Formats: sequence, C-alpha cells, structure tokens
Amino acid sequence: MMNDETEQFGWRFDNSYIRLPGAFYSRVNPTPVAEPRFVLLNRPLAQSLGLDSAEFAKPEAAAYFTGNRIFAGAEPIAQAYAGHQFGNFVRLGDGRAILMGEHCTAAGHRFDIQFKGSGPTPYSRRGDGRAALGPMLREYLISEAMHALGIPTTRSLAVAGTGEPVFREETLPGAVLTRVAASHIRVGTFEYFAALDNTDGLRVLADYTLRRHFPEQMKAENPVLAMLKEVIERQAFLISQWMRVGFVHGVMNTDNMALSGETIDYGPCAFIDSYDPAAVFSSIDQHGRYAFGQQPGIASWDLARFAEALLPILDPKPDAAIAQANQALADFAGRFQHHWLAALRAKLGLFTVEPEDAALAEELLNWMHETGADYTHAFRNLRPNPAPESSLSTDAKFATWHRRWTERLARQPQAWEEVSRLMNAHNPAVIPRNHEVEAALAAANADDLTRLEHLLVALARPYEEAGQPGALLNPPPTGTPVCRTFCGT
Ligand code: AMP
Ligand code: MG
Repeated sequence: MMNDETEQFGWRFDNSYIRLPGAFYSRVNPTPVAEPRFVLLNRPLAQSLGLDSAEFAKPEAAAYFTGNRIFAGAEPIAQAYAGHQFGNFVRLGDGRAILMGEHCTAAGHRFDIQFKGSGPTPYSRRGDGRAALGPMLREYLISEAMHALGIPTTRSLAVAGTGEPVFREETLPGAVLTRVAASHIRVGTFEYFAALDNTDGLRVLADYTLRRHFPEQMKAENPVLAMLKEVIERQAFLISQWMRVGFVHGVMNTDNMALSGETIDYGPCAFIDSYDPAAVFSSIDQHGRYAFGQQPGIASWDLARFAEALLPILDPKPDAAIAQANQALADFAGRFQHHWLAALRAKLGLFTVEPEDAALAEELLNWMHETGADYTHAFRNLRPNPAPESSLSTDAKFATWHRRWTERLARQPQAWEEVSRLMNAHNPAVIPRNHEVEAALAAANADDLTRLEHLLVALARPYEEAGQPGALLNPPPTGTPVCRTFCGT
C-alpha cells in the first residue's frame, strides 16, 4: 500500500475522532481490490468541498477511492457503535465502512470522509466487509436527490468499482462508495458506551459531540440535556421533511440515526407513489415497523433509547435524570406536529395560520389514501381551477375539499402567483421513483450508465418541471409492480 506524502485531491485532513480513547474505534486500512475504476464521480460536490478537480483525472485517481492507495493525511479507522435493530440491542460497529479522515474546508466546515464497502474490519462479524455496486449507486442517487430536495443528508462523492465480485443471493459486481457526512456519530454510538457501563466514555463522547455539532448547547446550564433537546428537535424536523416528499427510510434502527440530524444509511429506502401511511418497501420489514406513517413514532422510540443511554451523565441523581429525559422526550410529538403542519401548509400554499388547517390537510390525505392518488403528482398539480378534462372535476369528495381549499386561499392576502411559488418550492415535481431507480440500476449493472446519469440530472433540480422527461413527471404507468428494496448488503 502506498502512502503518498504530497497533498492530493485538495484534502485538508484533521482527524479528531482518532484522538479519542482507543475504545472508540479500531485502526484498519481498506483492503486493496483488483481493478479500481470510477463509476460515478460527484464533481459539484468535489468542488464545494474545495477539492482539486484535475487530480481526479489522473490515471491513478480511482485507486485512492477504493483504498488501494491511501490519501496523504488520512488515518483510516472503523468506528465502534451499537444499536437497536428492529427493537433488539446489538453491538455493531463499522463492519464494512472505514472512516478515512475528516476534511476541513477553507470555510471551516468539517466532514467525515468514509468508504463503504472497503473490506473487513474488526467489527465485520460474519460479513465480508464488501458492498455490491447496485446498492452503492442507489445510496449515491437517493442521497444526492435528498440533498437537492433540501433535506439534511449525508452525501456521495464517488462510487468506484472494485473489479471483484461480491457473493450475495447472486454474484454481483463490487464497489466502494465515498460518503461525506457531518459526522457518523449515531444514537448507537452512545448506546455502545452505555451498554458497557462506561460512563467516562459517555462523557468523552458527549463532550466531543457537543463541540462538533452543538456549540450553542455548550453554554447551557446542563449541556447534555440541551444536546438531547436539540437532537430531538433536529429529528422532529428531519422526519417532517422526509414525509413532505414521501420518503420512507426503511431501517430506522438506532445505529442509523445520526446526531447531526442528517439522513444516513440509505438501504431499503424508497419514495411512495400512491399515498399510503402503511407503505413499506423493505423486504426485511415484515411487520411494517418502519412504514411511511410510522416514522414519527419510531423516531420517538429511537430518541428514547438515546435519552436512556444519556441517563448516567444527565444528572448525578438517577430520579432527576429520568425526569429530565422524560420531559425532553415528551416534546417530540409536539415538535414533529409543528414541523409537519408547517410543511403541509407550504404544500397547500398557505401563508397564514388558521385553526382548521390541520383538518384541511388531513382531509386531502384521507382522500388520497382512499383513492390511491399519487402523493407527489396530486400535490404538485393542485390548482384553484383544475382543468375541466381532469378526472378530479368529477370526484364529489375531491370537489368538496377543493372548494374548502380555494375558500381558504381566498382568506389570505397572497395572490395565486405567490401561492403557486410557495407550493412549487415544497412539492417536488420529480422524485426518485422506485420503478425508475430500479430500471436505472439494472442498466448500470449491465454496464450502461446513461439511464442513471439522466436520472441524476433530473433529480438535481426536483422542483422544476421545465425540460424534465415526461416519464419522470408522472406517476408510474398503471400495472407497474411495486419493487421490494433490499437491505444494502
Ligand atoms: P446497515 O444495515 O448497513 O445499517 O448495517 C448494519 C450493520 O451491519 C453495521 O454494523 C454494518 O457495518 C454491518 N454490515 C452490513 N453489511 C456488512 C458486510 N457486508 N460486511 C460486514 N458488515 C456488514
Ligand atoms: Mg447502518
């Protein structure tokens, strides 16, 4: 393995996690692969990180993004963490991910640069530490779509093919994803130390997390409590934004909840077509634990695990710690409702606040559920004067709702032009629809990236209709089977 001493790619590594005690991670290098090659490279992201685009064109560049060569200044580690998976506590850790280091931009922002699929680590258990190309392209596509939708998320800098097969139910091409994240500190990272009764570890982790993500909360009388409250607030907002665009995460285990408030770990995630709170796509979620409409409740459950892990450092008196934790957790439902109602108001073009707004929105959602209306299409195409040929004009229930909505619009001062601008900024025209994503990935697996690239271009400006392919602006053709999505293993 080569460790080049010259500065490459414009990385400015400053690795703070490795300065934490040894219990937090294991040092481990990526395992070199047979034939590194770029499959996707995110040039706009590279640019926004201040990286040197010329470096990516060099013949040896791809070898750095599989870990065959190690970036100067990188200090690869696998992070220790635990988590509740489908309700059960498990000790996990980066089994197929390696944190290469933390890149600090000239503007002073710190980002984890992490490889996913880069070979075994001490936390791999029975796994091979590898990832298949399809799931890594999927994470790239969906995370970049979420970013363009304006939703907090980790991002994807590159997907590099390994030239090696991975063995799942079938033999698949292998790949390494380069993930860029505010950090990879999870609820499960705290659970890891709590489960070991390692209170010193918890304190060190809380202090590190406060410094990195919650400098404001450090000024509070009880910074740990202030951090808990802020994490609750960020998750309440995040889930409201997922639901605004119809996103189902699919595996909201506590190891997949990042304290930064970013969406993380795109496995069996998907966007709903027809509105259905019970929508589940993940083949492993047999009881609908992580269904579309369950997400606020599950976030609240995950946050309770976070609060539990914090108990030993919340207050020296256990009863007081529990009381503070419960009080903070009780706020989640209200925080979520607040953000969700704000999102629904924007989706309906409402600038002012009236007490009946929640009922107005709910009635539309009920109608969508009953009729199987397409969530994205229905919201995007709401108009005060629906086209006479539209099937909606003959639907009595919709007509009643529509009258209430137009009356409501008339009670606010904003003109339609302004209303429509608000709606178009919160109701995407284009989302990564399941059938499109699956078709693009199937083609990519057969070495044809054109469909994926077209999808990426469209998803980079999801709130604009102009110039978008018609197929992406419409619901899937009737009869399109609902794809199951699989955990990204
Ligand atoms: P995920 O479902 O991606 O959130 O992963 C859950 C846990 O399983 C994490 O600790 C991963 O590192 C681990 N894991 C998933 N796939 C593999 C693999 N192929 N090899 C080793 N560990 C894995
Ligand atoms: Mg995970």
